Amino acid sequence: MRTIQTDILILGSGGAGLFAALHAHQADPALDITVAVKGLLGKCGCTRMVQGGYNVALAAGDSVERHFMDTIEGGKWLPDQDLAWKLVTLAVERIHELENELGCFFDRNPDGSIHQKAFAGQTFDRTVHKGDLTGIEIINRLAEQVWARKIKRLEEHRAVALIKAKSGGALAGVLMIDMRTGEFAFVQAKAVLLATGGGPTMYKYHTPSGDKSCDGLAMALRAGLTLRDMEMVQFHPTGLLAGTHTRMTGTVLEEGLRGSGGYLLNGAGERFMGNYDAKLERATRDIVSRAIYAEMRAGRTTPNGGVHISMAHLGPENVIRQFKGMVERCADSGFDLAGGLVEVVPTAHYMMGGVEFRPDCSTALPGLFAAGEDTGGVHGANRLGGNGVANSTVYGGVAGEEMAAWVKAHGVLHQPDAESMAAAEAACRAPLDRPAGDLEGVRQDLYELMWDDVGIVRDAQGLARARGVLLELQARLDATGVDASDLRYNLAWHDWMNLKNLILVSRAICEAALVRENSRGAHFRADFPDAGELETSNYSQVQAAAGEGFRVSRQPVKFTRVRPGDSLLD
Ligand SMILES: Cc1cc2nc3c(=O)[nH]c(=O)nc-3n(C[C@H](O)[C@H](O)[C@H](O)COP(=O)(O)OP(=O)(O)OC[C@H]3O[C@@H](n4cnc5c(N)ncnc54)[C@H](O)[C@@H]3O)c2cc1C
Repeated sequence: MRTIQTDILILGSGGAGLFAALHAHQADPALDITVAVKGLLGKCGCTRMVQGGYNVALAAGDSVERHFMDTIEGGKWLPDQDLAWKLVTLAVERIHELENELGCFFDRNPDGSIHQKAFAGQTFDRTVHKGDLTGIEIINRLAEQVWARKIKRLEEHRAVALIKAKSGGALAGVLMIDMRTGEFAFVQAKAVLLATGGGPTMYKYHTPSGDKSCDGLAMALRAGLTLRDMEMVQFHPTGLLAGTHTRMTGTVLEEGLRGSGGYLLNGAGERFMGNYDAKLERATRDIVSRAIYAEMRAGRTTPNGGVHISMAHLGPENVIRQFKGMVERCADSGFDLAGGLVEVVPTAHYMMGGVEFRPDCSTALPGLFAAGEDTGGVHGANRLGGNGVANSTVYGGVAGEEMAAWVKAHGVLHQPDAESMAAAEAACRAPLDRPAGDLEGVRQDLYELMWDDVGIVRDAQGLARARGVLLELQARLDATGVDASDLRYNLAWHDWMNLKNLILVSRAICEAALVRENSRGAHFRADFPDAGELETSNYSQVQAAAGEGFRVSRQPVKFTRVRPGDSLLD
């Protein structure tokens, strides 16, 4: 097997991965840094898809304390407060770095200051943006900077397993598949960053990019790491609903539409949000998603089974100017966003849960760091729109600096444990020995199951059913083979691995949802609708147990900066 050696291996080239590469290089330009990515650097992942923008307290009247309180209250008091504090304070530094050092152009006010728009669930207009396609600006500038440096790239290389050292608990490197040839490669590294970006693509309607299949979370589970807050899957209220024939269904129509005054109307043409929350359409994502879901269950739906978003009352010209990208996206699917009605449905968007990590991005596995959507704890029960890309860029930068320091202080290339490497390779090759079968059937059943039983509204009965069916789906997948005649760009094989990871992570979500017997943020239990005592808030932990099961536990939230009922604001 080809072996590659590097000082720092970064898995993923979203905001977290690229910032990590740049900051590690800046900390020590002599370091050998390699970015390995399932797609092409700069062209894949969700940071590129960021629409609405980036939360940061810049304007007069706003403050990091206010941003922090919005994050904690939005997260229903479950965020790790030290992680959230680092997010809001370093976001200020990072946005200036994006503008002044990396060359991003964000929209401006007539006086030249950065324009910040309203996002739902926030007490101040603090979302920095470039029109409504902010991510393209960020990723293009980041990618250019990475290309301009001596940072190595392994593109179309898929990470499949974290391999520990022969001699003990540290990480030795990562087993990968070169997707272009189908060959395995081992990348031996002194430090590795997990930045593969989570992504709840196991739901019928979902927004993340197609390359995301929870690979990082599945690798972490298999390596014995603990994931936290896995029950917290965020549904964005306004996914485009354009019929079953198009992959545009599920893609997101950004938060700013509701933030700027858009209405939601049910199939009967009624503006229904007043029946659910005093903040109407500007309530947090969880509340709006549940309200839409309730309208759907009551049968008050549009022709494709969702509700409508209406912007026309804000003036079509205004809408076209402010939301050009969204207007074009809707037009592509036959809808007139500026002057008419567009069908929408809640769509699985983001995982607040992920690998437990420390504020310096280190994890329980020496040598492994984590940042971005692969991590848990920053957002608690709900992520504010605009805090996602802030999270990946803030913590990506932190990870880069910390990994550079780690390599200097402790960095050695460990010999990998040959047995676990062989076992990981065999697990990937398993479907190649069987006759090709129906992967699409497994995927469709997974989509429906997660949407119906582990989705926006949950209860013990549905979750117990899902627990059983997920095991059946896993067995079905294990019995399904793929055509192995040519492993070059063998997408069926990669799809099989995607599904394997998605089913494993779905099981972790289901287990965490079963133990949380209350309703907080994105997690709503119809059988336990109360939020529970804020003072005694717990977060969930899930770990793969020996054999086939999971160990699930609860830990008290430490209110290190502010207690429920108090505020950092005067
Ligand atoms: C449509 C959409 C709109 C959004 N809008 C906003 C917004 O307005 N504001 C906001 O704050 N957030 C928004 N988000 C969320 C935001 O995109 C994420 O929070 C953030 O960008 C995640 O960054 P990341 O670096 O962790 O992951 P990503 O940017 O998703 O990058 C993950 C990388 O890992 C790679 N990868 C995956 N698996 C493997 C593997 N096995 N091996 C190697 N590489 C792998 C992928 O190819 C990709 O390069 C949006 C998300 C979507 C989907």
